[in-house]
Amino acid sequence: MTRNVVIIGSGPAGLTAAIYAARANLYPLVIEGLQAGGQLTTTTDVENYPGFSHAIMGPELMKEMRAQAERFGTTFLQGDVTSVELGKQPFRIVIEGEQPVDTKTMIIATGAAAQYLGLPNERRLLGHGVSACATCDGYFFRGKELVVVGGGDSAMEESTFLTKFASKVYVVHRRDKLRASKIMQDRAMKNEKITFVWNSSVEDILGDQVVTGVTLKNHVTGKTSELPCAGVFMAIGHKPNTDLFKSQMDMDAKGYLLTNNGTATSVPGVFAAGDVQDSKYRQAVTAAGSGCMAAMDAERYLENQG
Ligand code: NAP
Repeated sequence: MTRNVVIIGSGPAGLTAAIYAARANLYPLVIEGLQAGGQLTTTTDVENYPGFSHAIMGPELMKEMRAQAERFGTTFLQGDVTSVELGKQPFRIVIEGEQPVDTKTMIIATGAAAQYLGLPNERRLLGHGVSACATCDGYFFRGKELVVVGGGDSAMEESTFLTKFASKVYVVHRRDKLRASKIMQDRAMKNEKITFVWNSSVEDILGDQVVTGVTLKNHVTGKTSELPCAGVFMAIGHKPNTDLFKSQMDMDAKGYLLTNNGTATSVPGVFAAGDVQDSKYRQAVTAAGSGCMAAMDAERYLENQG
């Protein structure tokens, strides 16, 4: 059986694409991936998604989107795609432990993943004090001192959230100006538990079994120092999840899929939506919007193919 539309990814982009494709009677299949629901499942309050004047929890929002997609006839497969064959129609999707799936159109909504500093001890201590998800791991650090690395909205959000548990949070930023939006900066700056460490980078993460501190380097003075802490949270941006499509599709230097004329990619019949093709806005609402566009583009493509 060859499907009309297969959507890879189940964040706001993938699920919105599913809602629209299902309502167009295309009977979409969503391959949910290892982190079903995407990045919002690791967030707490979502305050900027229109329609929720009192905020909604990220996992709750994703549960609602999934139920909405299911209501109109979307089917779901809880697998991880290991390879795709885009060289000829129909496209083939290979999924771990499942039969391959063939499809006339594909919507790629695989999102992006948290970046790490690339330090050897960071990898060794991942899950033992090193994390990139405050919502997932903050609870384990009650009454402890923590470090958050980064100066963007994520760093502000994570550090503010972590003050619910931690006794103190140091935000280590490599410059003396934040990249974060004014409202998020103000909120973090007003928080008495947050201290900013400017012009500094984490050079090493200390600890045998668990994190006990970090080595910092100040770029202005050139001095290194140790800062004791029980956990280090990375908030230094994301990398698009496009390894699967390398050499088969056009991407930019950072690996974001290139789209034109809406959501069309360099492969006719393959569309991209959400963070996988957007390094600029990266919001749930923009991802959802592009998911809608991708479903409409896939529908028109199928119509034109007869
Ligand atoms: P970002 O805006 O790209 O910021 C990444 C931060 O990490 C920057 O301050 C950057 O420093 C720093 N950084 C990058 N690589 C580093 C390295 N190797 N070592 C040390 N520091 C490093 O990423 P983000 O904060 O994850 O935000 C991504 C997007 O999501 C943004 O559009 C943001 O507005 C949005 N977002 C929105 C919300 C919200 O509205 N609730 C929450 C989270 C994220 P430099 O500044 O020096 O480059």
